[in-house]
Amino acid sequence: MTTILDLPPDAAAAELGTWLAQRGEPAYRLTQLLPRLWQRPVRRWSDATELPAALRGALDDAWPLPGLEPEAVERSADGTEKLLWRLPDGDAVESVLIPEGARRTLCISSQAGCPLRCAFCATGTMGLHRNLAAWEIAAQVREMALRPESVKPTNVVFMGMGEPLLNWAAVDTALTLLNHPAALGIGARHITVSTVGILPGLAALAKRPEQFRLAVSLHAPTSALRLTLMPIEKRYPLPRVLEAVRVFRRRVTFEYVMIEGVNDREEDLAALARIARPAGALVNLIPLHPGGSATLVPTPARRIAAFAAGLRRRGVEAVARRSRGLDIAAACGQLRVARQEVDGEVAAQPHGGVHQAAGVGRRADHPHT
Ligand code: SAH
Repeated sequence: MTTILDLPPDAAAAELGTWLAQRGEPAYRLTQLLPRLWQRPVRRWSDATELPAALRGALDDAWPLPGLEPEAVERSADGTEKLLWRLPDGDAVESVLIPEGARRTLCISSQAGCPLRCAFCATGTMGLHRNLAAWEIAAQVREMALRPESVKPTNVVFMGMGEPLLNWAAVDTALTLLNHPAALGIGARHITVSTVGILPGLAALAKRPEQFRLAVSLHAPTSALRLTLMPIEKRYPLPRVLEAVRVFRRRVTFEYVMIEGVNDREEDLAALARIARPAGALVNLIPLHPGGSATLVPTPARRIAAFAAGLRRRGVEAVARRSRGLDIAAACGQLRVARQEVDGEVAAQPHGGVHQAAGVGRRADHPHT
């Protein structure tokens, strides 16, 4: 299925411009249509009442706008909200909205399921169902504006279901849709790609000129220990991931899920400091969310705080994260809060190379009618 929402703004403008011209519509119509894709989205063109009715009908026929159906919404006592989106083919993914002061971070999914099977992760137990399309990734943000509360996330983190760098083609375009001023307009520094360290994907991400943020799911300071938690270690070993991070030459966050007696020992602390310090990484310590594994136990909060203090004593910037949305099992037990705005910068980033998607087409079915 291809849709106009799968195209970066420039390509979408080209397609719609051609179509309008063929219909003999005045050129200014294009400037009316484009904001309805992402900036001031509509569920269907017929809702864009500033347009003549005949044009709206023709648009719904020629360029139907696909959507995600919010199937379930759960609110945590702490304000965290988990949304379950039904995809057009019946599969489902989650997003989690985490309000924190003026910030509204949306945690989005890049795949339905995940092939990585990390020992502590609930999504991994499902295996991979399929990759999401670029529009399905960006639509998790788009749909928030279409809900009655009309929320515009200030930050986006790829920390929902799936491994974004195993779905690079779609994530590549989705990053453009999230960031481009003519689309969702979220500053690149407010968009974080979280990955276990898929090397070809890291290389592709490094080529993008925008300052997207990178978080690497480390969870263990040595290859041997990491292998017991993350099967991907066999394919992309820790030393090579660290080398890729080094050549990335941007500030990186190391995510470290704290599991009692497994990766929270003194020797782990020392080893973690030894790799985080030269990398100049910020270490995010996350209490293990229950749900992923029956046998693994979260490190107690006091021990996490001591671990963070130990890292700081060794010259490593470290933050002990609160769990959010525990009462709603947010994001398959994966929910974590990412530190985003190290510099508090909020302006939209200049966008770089816009990627043209090939094979523009029209969708026959329409999920909203
Ligand atoms: N595949 C990507 C992004 C999705 S997971 C990645 O691995 O980075 C987002 C984060 O949640 C990762 O750091 C992941 O390791 C973490 N996570 C998974 N299961 C968790 C759990 N049960 N408790 C806490 N964090 C978890």
